[in-house]
Amino acid sequence: MAIEREYYLFNKEELQDLLAFTEDKGLSKREAVRRLYEYGRNIIRESDKKGVFTIFIDQFRDFMIMILMAASCLSFVMGEFSDAVSILAIIILNGLMGFIQEYRAEKSLAALKKLASPNARVIRDGLLEEVDAEELVPGDLIILEAGDRVPADARIISTKGLQVDESLLTGESVTVEKTERSIDRRGLVLAEQKNMLFMGTAITRGKCRAVVVATGMNTEMGRIAYLLEREENRLTPLQRRLKDLGRWLVSLSLIMTLLIVLIGILKGQSIYNMFMAGVSLAVAAIPEGLPAIVTLVLAVGVQKMSRNNAIVRKLQAVETLGCSTVICSDKTGTLTENQMSVKKLYINRRIMAFEPGGKNIVFEKILRIAALCSNVELRKEERRSPFRKVKGFFSSNSIPELMGDPTETTLVKAYYETGHSYTDLKKQYQVIAEEGFDSERKRMSVLVETPGKRRELWIKGAVELILERCKYIENEGIRVPVTNKDKADILKANEIMAGEALRVLAVAYRPFRTNIRAESPGRFENELVFVGLVGMIDPPRVEACQAVASCYRAGIRPVMITGDHSITAAVIAEELGIIPAGGKVMTGDELKKMADQELKEKVDEIQVYARIAPEEKLRIVRALREKGEIVAMTGDGVNDAPALKEADIGIAMGKKGTDVSKEVSALILADDNFATIVKAVEEGRKIYNNIRKFIKYLLACNIGELLSIFIGIVMGLPLPLLPIQILWVNLVTDGLPALALGLDNDSDDVMKRPPRDPEESIFSHGMTGHIISEGILIGISTMAAFLLAIYRYGADLDTARTMAFSTLVFSQLFFVFSCRSEEHSFWEIPLYTNMYLIGAVFISTVMQLAVIYLPFFSKYFQTQLLNSGQWSVVFLLSCWSTIAVDLI
Ligand code: ATP
Repeated sequence: MAIEREYYLFNKEELQDLLAFTEDKGLSKREAVRRLYEYGRNIIRESDKKGVFTIFIDQFRDFMIMILMAASCLSFVMGEFSDAVSILAIIILNGLMGFIQEYRAEKSLAALKKLASPNARVIRDGLLEEVDAEELVPGDLIILEAGDRVPADARIISTKGLQVDESLLTGESVTVEKTERSIDRRGLVLAEQKNMLFMGTAITRGKCRAVVVATGMNTEMGRIAYLLEREENRLTPLQRRLKDLGRWLVSLSLIMTLLIVLIGILKGQSIYNMFMAGVSLAVAAIPEGLPAIVTLVLAVGVQKMSRNNAIVRKLQAVETLGCSTVICSDKTGTLTENQMSVKKLYINRRIMAFEPGGKNIVFEKILRIAALCSNVELRKEERRSPFRKVKGFFSSNSIPELMGDPTETTLVKAYYETGHSYTDLKKQYQVIAEEGFDSERKRMSVLVETPGKRRELWIKGAVELILERCKYIENEGIRVPVTNKDKADILKANEIMAGEALRVLAVAYRPFRTNIRAESPGRFENELVFVGLVGMIDPPRVEACQAVASCYRAGIRPVMITGDHSITAAVIAEELGIIPAGGKVMTGDELKKMADQELKEKVDEIQVYARIAPEEKLRIVRALREKGEIVAMTGDGVNDAPALKEADIGIAMGKKGTDVSKEVSALILADDNFATIVKAVEEGRKIYNNIRKFIKYLLACNIGELLSIFIGIVMGLPLPLLPIQILWVNLVTDGLPALALGLDNDSDDVMKRPPRDPEESIFSHGMTGHIISEGILIGISTMAAFLLAIYRYGADLDTARTMAFSTLVFSQLFFVFSCRSEEHSFWEIPLYTNMYLIGAVFISTVMQLAVIYLPFFSKYFQTQLLNSGQWSVVFLLSCWSTIAVDLI
């Protein structure tokens, strides 16, 4: 199979020979596996991916680490070998920890990218299946429709009104009409190859079957991959703010350090000592671990969200989710189960209950039209009953698994339940053209050739829209002109059915006297014969009710925006608790008449919008945003893309969403479920909370260290902590607890608070005061230990330093528990809810004891063994500050 072939030249038969597939069965599964092995996966390789080695080396490119390396070299030159070695060891240890964090973050983000990667519908062994687009091979028969991204280069085999946006490849912004006919001219440029589809372009209208001719790097996209804009790893607003904070802290701490060093030298300390102290102080003051922990916490958070079916496409979404004040959601499938079944029908001027296998003759015609006027495929072949004559031979457990839009599969299922075969129906009545459904048109029609070779238009759609196109009505098989009374009766029946929370579709047809040409049937959707109404029940999801209640508790307003009828929408919204009984619903017609300003004034009060077209969605988001709301909005169709883009958080449906809607979204719901959004909001809030927790922890600890050195130097005392000890605390013992705080389970019920203001500083709600006061207390405790050792116990300098050093470490290890909650004291939160923290504190404690008790380390750290009295002092000084602050 040559890659360079001009596939547009060949006709269907030649293509089948060339690519060895059949038009009805595609490839066999075995052959597909073999070709996957031969041609490789259908992916565009990314050349600039960070390798493991680069990640490791990057850890040492940090400004602070450079300074430390310089310090280590200097100590070496000055003959202070133990200092040089210990600094180096600490740098390596710190680098390793950073590497593990970044590697994990990269891994989990890559795994997420994979989760969000598109699927493709392919026919193998004659059956339709959905596979990961990466598994496509040349010769695969694929099915594409509006909203799909073309997953590989392919040649069209059959099509109905296909239009494609190829701007990505050709730069041409008008959509291109495609055909299945071969073109008899060589050397065409891409834009002229009207029977070809190219990877990465988007289907804007119609549908087609096509055969894959090239995959991965062999596609046109693969050839120009290096030209494509890569999605850079952009920082989230919070990461950016933290970076700014980091810069600010660097300047501040450098000034402080310089000051301390100057005072120290003036007070007679040795220059080398003060240089080393300065370096370690700079390290102490700069929370260099912060950005790495933030990234890891975000990555772990999004991984957790993906396990809960919320796949994050843009990291910013995690932060913005926590701030969202309004969640605008579709109804069908998101707030409802999407497990529909036909309950009532209106035919022959009566509403009748639908019973499977019951009055099938009466129901057959309306369901025949509705079923054929759809895009449903069988996942498995029909299992035919040997008793074909028996009525209802398709018992509910012998109906094959169906694939397609749930409204349509429900109709096909109901058709089976009248005892008829859908496969036979498709054979008897040939669909020769189709005008597809979209949320804008709210109807779908097909041009059908009957067994008597006559052509008819069959149509189904929103009741009002179909009814206004009807000229006749069919009653007991007799066609008569439709009267105003008939229309009023039909609308009344529609209201009654909608009032029972049914989703109602009208069904009609139009026979043609002369055989019209097989072209787009859209322009014949008039002079219709009304057949009846089909009412389907689509119950609200149980978990959506709880999620709605949870939204209200968390100060978030849930808003339903649906294409469905206003009464159906209102009943479902009431059942879900979105609006009170009799609550107001705004319809698309009312909205259209409203000026933007008026909409802006009313938008705060409206909870349910019905019969809304996608462009109205955009107006609603705009109005909400202008009111200062942070809007999360769901969508699935191609036309929803602008609204999803405009929203603060666009949310696409994983199952029924189009590729185009997924691409513009920040979040994808793998289960299309509203409750998943609310869970994601909760997770977003928790993550932000956790980030605040460890920032508070790290900064308070840093202030404590700076302060103890500062006090020591100002008092003219020897350094209370050795540079190596300061480095140890900063780069080793407080890193793990900070990380564990980042992974804390919620200790405050975040869903009982109102959303946070996105402009709010990370230090708001009194955090600065808390950081400073706790920092001062830690600093005082450390100095107190040092002074008590010298003046009360008459200890030597090394012992005094060991006491100060241990007090500093253990104060921090106590304090970390108090950082877990802003509302509760540490003794009110069960310890077992964060086992990471217990583990981290345990490891840090063991490491600290090792530094004192293992002779190998104590030599480098110049520590001394402490007696029980000294340990008691250390213990008391370490815990009092945390207890005092929490009591206050
Ligand atoms: P939501 O926007 O909440 O998902 P929805 O699914 O009802 O609600 P649309 O898919 O835009 O919204 O459908 C709008 C209307 O179009 C429906 O109420 C129905 O009358 C009609 N409709 C829906 N699906 C089809 C279809 N497959 N064929 C014909 N008409 C349809």
